[in-house]
Amino acid sequence: MKYVPEPFRIKTVEPIKMTTREFRQDAIREAGYNTFLLKSEDVYIDLLTDSGTNAMSDAQWAALQLGDEAYAGSRNFYDLERTIQEVYGYKHVVPTHQGRAAEHIMSRLLIKPGDFVPGNMYFTTTRLHQELAGGTFNDAIIDEAHDPSCTHPFKGNFDVKKLQALVDKVGPKRIPYISAATCVNMAGGQPISIANLHELRAFADKHGLKIMLDNTRTVENAYFIQKREAGFANKSVKQIVREICSFTDGCTSSAKKDGLVNIGGFLATNDEDFFVASKEQVVIYEGLHTYGGLAGRDMAAMAQGIRESVANDDYIKYRVEQVNFFGDLLSAAGVPHVVPHGGHAIFLDARAFLPHIDQEQFPAQALAAEIYVETGVRAMERGNVSAGRNKETGQNYRPKLELVRLTIPRRVYTQSHLEYAAEGIINVFQKRDCVKGLRFTFEPSALRFFQARFETVG
Ligand SMILES: *Cc1c(COP(=O)(O)O)cnc(C)c1O
Repeated sequence: MKYVPEPFRIKTVEPIKMTTREFRQDAIREAGYNTFLLKSEDVYIDLLTDSGTNAMSDAQWAALQLGDEAYAGSRNFYDLERTIQEVYGYKHVVPTHQGRAAEHIMSRLLIKPGDFVPGNMYFTTTRLHQELAGGTFNDAIIDEAHDPSCTHPFKGNFDVKKLQALVDKVGPKRIPYISAATCVNMAGGQPISIANLHELRAFADKHGLKIMLDNTRTVENAYFIQKREAGFANKSVKQIVREICSFTDGCTSSAKKDGLVNIGGFLATNDEDFFVASKEQVVIYEGLHTYGGLAGRDMAAMAQGIRESVANDDYIKYRVEQVNFFGDLLSAAGVPHVVPHGGHAIFLDARAFLPHIDQEQFPAQALAAEIYVETGVRAMERGNVSAGRNKETGQNYRPKLELVRLTIPRRVYTQSHLEYAAEGIINVFQKRDCVKGLRFTFEPSALRFFQARFETVG
């Protein structure tokens, strides 16, 4: 187990609160056993998400001072546009306040009621926007992605046979685009290969289909390609990022992940008509097309963050290998989790961890709550609560993957923070028989994991 040391040093620190077990027991009960409802102040190490939790560099903080807050035509927009064109290679750029705003615009414009949108698994907000536009998500990821113990190196790959089956069933006219994601979040941060993107492009061209990329985690994905895919060891991550995007027609992106900022996102495309239509929509929902719901300074920090993410390979190597180190600590103690380790998080396999709790009693939700009580570490449920209910049957989806996500913010925590977190999780594993299941006391109608409340069963 080797820790790749940080390619930066610490210049500013933020104190965090140490709490007692009794304190945390009360806090989680008050939060309805939902880690989203805990106060951040009451959390010691926050592994809830890597979204917008990045530490910015000195150059990004300096860029904030250079915000051009003009309503129209901000200098920072042009800098951001140039940066996205250079790093990702798309022609046209529309900034949005975060990723889901770009998804909203893309889904409204491209999806008609009755359409089907195939994807390499789903992401919560992506699928919801597809559904709100009248579409139906269709899972076309390889079967291996649904098996937490399968060590396939590219579990984010599409199964083109599944895409073919959908085309045969509904016809290409009812498929507005293929929704492809890099480092598939819900599968455990698993990458897609260049070879698979080649296959996907050929398939799309054959049927006249577009490919739209969820570009949120392309830099992390590129690192895996460099490390694992034959022929890429000598290419830079920056080159591989461009190559990934070149297979697609456009993207939505949350810059709160790879982009190393706390807020920001964008939509990008090579299609002039779609660009024009997107600018009309962004004015309605976000703001003028040269700020899209962001301050000028936010765009400045985002442009700088995107440049830093690919400036050299040291940053992304440290970032992904830090996640891997954390996973290796858990592997050594036999704690069940998704392998290979993903690019941004370690996903505990809650069904294997807590086999005595039925999925209807939300084992992943219960495990995330218990980890907080034991350690003060905040994790997130990614299982039956996140999956929601089937529109037709009203039943919980009961996804094969019932996971607890421990997400590593970028450039924020050190090796000793991760060692502490791993030790606490190993303690929970050793007394796992005592963990109880949960039932809803409040169930929201959409994206229910954010605000649901629970009580313990038995
Ligand atoms: C975070 C995320 C989104 C949504 O982006 P927000 O900025 O949170 O709105 C979309 N897709 C993926 C893969 C993500 O990780």
